[in-house]
Amino acid sequence: MPSYSLVTFGCQMNQHDSERMEEVLQRAGYAPTTDVEQADLVLLNTCSVREKAEQKLRSEVGRLGVLKRSRPELLIGVAGCVAQQEGERLIKRMPQIDLLIGPDNIPELPGLLRELAGGAPPQVRAAFDLDSPRFLTLDAGLPRARQVSSFVTIMKGCDERCSFCIVPTTRGPERYRPSEEILLECEALVAQGTREITLLGQTVDSYLDPTRKLPANPAAEAALAMLPSGETAKRRGAGIHADESEFPALLRAICERVPGLARLRYTSLHPRHLTPSLIQSHQSLPQLVRHVHMPVQSGSDRVLRRMIRRYSVAEYLERTDALKRAVPGLSLSTDIIVGFPGETDEDFELTLDLMRRVGFVGVFGFKYSERPGTPALKLTDDVPESEKSRRLSALFEVSEGLRRAHLERLIGKEETVLVEGLGKTGGYTGRTERNEIVHFGSKEDVLGELALVRITGAFKHSLEAELVDEARRAPLPAQLASAGAALASGRPGRVNLPVV
Ligand code: SF4
Repeated sequence: MPSYSLVTFGCQMNQHDSERMEEVLQRAGYAPTTDVEQADLVLLNTCSVREKAEQKLRSEVGRLGVLKRSRPELLIGVAGCVAQQEGERLIKRMPQIDLLIGPDNIPELPGLLRELAGGAPPQVRAAFDLDSPRFLTLDAGLPRARQVSSFVTIMKGCDERCSFCIVPTTRGPERYRPSEEILLECEALVAQGTREITLLGQTVDSYLDPTRKLPANPAAEAALAMLPSGETAKRRGAGIHADESEFPALLRAICERVPGLARLRYTSLHPRHLTPSLIQSHQSLPQLVRHVHMPVQSGSDRVLRRMIRRYSVAEYLERTDALKRAVPGLSLSTDIIVGFPGETDEDFELTLDLMRRVGFVGVFGFKYSERPGTPALKLTDDVPESEKSRRLSALFEVSEGLRRAHLERLIGKEETVLVEGLGKTGGYTGRTERNEIVHFGSKEDVLGELALVRITGAFKHSLEAELVDEARRAPLPAQLASAGAALASGRPGRVNLPVV
């Protein structure tokens, strides 16, 4: 049986694509191996959002090229965004590569491998499936280890065209997965033991059901009241319906149809699609976690306009404030780019002010780097590298201070933790609803369970805790069913999830 090794760079979307690629390969008779030196096929699933990830690809292909000299039968494949972006050019630059495959062409992998086995020249497939979008679906027939936490793709591509971003080029325009397919996949994952699902998309909150099967929000008008009165009037005046995206309807459908699901997350959302109905969903759906990752990118309106983000700092704050009002204790994290062309010291200071004002508990900070084919190439990259580094360090200093203060505030509090694994030094690790990592000990096997813990200490990036009461363990599905019933009856407010 031929073997494969899969190396993944980049975002959660890529990790998810890699999982599905493994299923396609296993169905085609390939067996996984962790020994790259012995693999018949090495597939690199690439990312081109940052320059660093592309450099990594070059060094990886160089290293595999040396191996291929002693084992000419080794096949080297490149998948993901770099394959999509570069196509044949990449094979010209790196002739060691045998196969290039874009994210939409993964189902064609077995056929392309057969061609190569038959002596065909290097194969390139990187066409978008614009006419009939295909989504890689969970192969429920394949044996797989139980995953406490799983990803489900709901859409692909992006229509936003932020000036710094290459994703619209590498992933194409927005295409949405039929709601019924998403619901079936969520059901299958939970039946296999998944407790937490993260819905994936470049801008998940712009989701529209292509089959138009999702019911409208019965309380859409009431949802408008979630926004400050000025904003509500503006929306009514502009004829904007509270549910211009169907993402909240999808969240409601998942929570109703899959009552055994303990937690529902999503990433990433675009601030301009954060509708009142989505805010309302956070208030009324017990499975929806109290954490939102909402990329802001800059705290300066001038820079946001140059980035073509299509919201202002005031609008971003209106939405985060509305979320916090609707769900007390909800935490927010974000992405920020420093050193974007034209960013001055004053612009950067405004970003630090915004971070403190929102109180982000997590910040993914990046230095701007030019990406081929992006609109920002027309702007002069005028912030020196040393200044970008200084700003990034200053950003991390503020973000670490915010996170430290947040973690310390949790000491003494009780939290429900989804137990995901064993700790490196014994005990268990899990995550709270707000995504904080928690380490604690237990005499019982609590892997995959929801556990109630009391926070006893804070580290730099995580928390330590003690189990509140091991005797309070209870079967989860029955308790979740009552949470689901509360949801179906439209009872407002959050329903606490059961604990072990
Ligand atoms: S919203 Fe902007 S940053 Fe996000 S994927 Fe789309 S173009 Fe890129």
